[in-house]
Amino acid sequence: MPCLLCGHDKTHKHGKTSKGSQRYCCPACKQTFTDTFDTIYYRRQLKPNEVHTILQSHCEGSSLRGLARISGRAYGTVVNLVRGASQKALLIHNAFVQQVKTVAITADELWSFVQKNKSTVCLENLR
Ligand SMILES: [Zn+2]
Repeated sequence: MPCLLCGHDKTHKHGKTSKGSQRYCCPACKQTFTDTFDTIYYRRQLKPNEVHTILQSHCEGSSLRGLARISGRAYGTVVNLVRGASQKALLIHNAFVQQVKTVAITADELWSFVQKNKSTVCLENLR
């Protein structure tokens, strides 16, 4: 397995983690890592199916406290997972969505973004 940190070709097995995952050590950079390095599963005590369930439920609109209650995990664990997933999603989005040429944009969520609606905005300022 190549080193996920420096790209060195040969790493060697370096025991197992407390959860039983294979740990590897790179002789070049002297760092250890597991198969899940740089993924949403890295250094989490959650099983992959728990991660999937929590993130899927979050996407469908469940509250974070509700997710913590249903999954039996701490609120901080759920928040940390959702934040980690959103950071990964942001990196992937920024890497793949570049130089998109647009002619027109739809800004239908703009008023909720600035937390204004028809009753709170002064229409005199818009004219
Ligand atoms: Zn290395």
